[in-house]
Amino acid sequence: MPPRILFAAHAQRWAQYEAPLRAALADAGIEARLDCDLSDPGSVDYIIFAPAGDVEDFTPFTNARMVQNLWAGVEGVVGNPTLNIPLTRMVDTGLTEGMVEWCTGHVLRHHLGMDQMLAAQDGIWRHFEFIPPLARDRRVTVLGLGALGAAVCASLVGLNFQVRGWSRRPKSLPGVDSFHGDDLHAALEGAEIVILLLPYTPATDGILTTNGLDQLAEGAVVLNPGRGGLIDDDALLAALDRGRVGHATLDVFRTEPLPPEHPYWSHPKVTVTPHIASETRPGTASRVVVENIRRAEAGEPLLHLVDRSAGY
Ligand code: NDP
Repeated sequence: MPPRILFAAHAQRWAQYEAPLRAALADAGIEARLDCDLSDPGSVDYIIFAPAGDVEDFTPFTNARMVQNLWAGVEGVVGNPTLNIPLTRMVDTGLTEGMVEWCTGHVLRHHLGMDQMLAAQDGIWRHFEFIPPLARDRRVTVLGLGALGAAVCASLVGLNFQVRGWSRRPKSLPGVDSFHGDDLHAALEGAEIVILLLPYTPATDGILTTNGLDQLAEGAVVLNPGRGGLIDDDALLAALDRGRVGHATLDVFRTEPLPPEHPYWSHPKVTVTPHIASETRPGTASRVVVENIRRAEAGEPLLHLVDRSAGY
């Protein structure tokens, strides 16, 4: 009997994913039943999942063998008490490339002073005011050196930025001065641009506080494409107001959509982007999903297995 794969990542996405998933299954030579029909949960072998989708209670899926999260972040499912089968998350080339482009673009925006140039289209020739330092003299710190953080570091190292990184466990990445564990402040000290690419877990909740912000260079830029809960919002707003932070570009928030009355929307030193830093791409992501199903069928180790105790 061919395995049954349930697409439970919201009916709206089924239209985007059905064809790439079928194509990936065919290419892998896997014969399977693929649908988004929530009835008969006992017959489901694999669940393709996204938070706020069609499934919250995994109890009826008595024969399921794996839940594949469509997103990189798993904070919306990792603590689900009804989930007691392996949970895998998305690491997708399209997602990674998108994040590298978003982070590199926003680093270059601030490094090159693009905002000042845009604000100075007034007929005055300010030649000497607008020569940026070279990237080799700009200190950038990346918090989180996983699939996304490591790729962002590689892009920034390639452009010659002085890159420091911080992770939970020791890491060695070419051209990156790496810190881990208790060394967060050493990683942040003097940074002119800081990028948050950590998962949201109990250990990273509100990790960027007044203390951390005070380690940064005066007028530093904060880029957060990780998760809103990584930042103490009151501390960031205060740091923006007193000039310690010169600008914050925020893609993710504790409450999404960000409420219209939230001070971030109107703050002159904040750019809000609506959780678009990077998106899982159906074409490449479907191949990751199918490779994991192939592995499960063959009894091989799964890719991108979530460590439930660490929360990511
Ligand atoms: P990974 O799991 O590959 O990497 C996470 C990194 O964070 C690892 O380096 C890990 O350390 C580090 N880390 C975790 N906990 C701690 C801690 N307590 N202290 C220090 N370091 C810690 O995740 P990804 O790179 O794939 O994704 C990162 C996050 O990006 C996702 O969780 C998601 O929230 C966000 N994201 C946002 C998107 C957007 O559009 N805005 C799109 C996709 C993802 P170690 O290496 O030691 O394990």
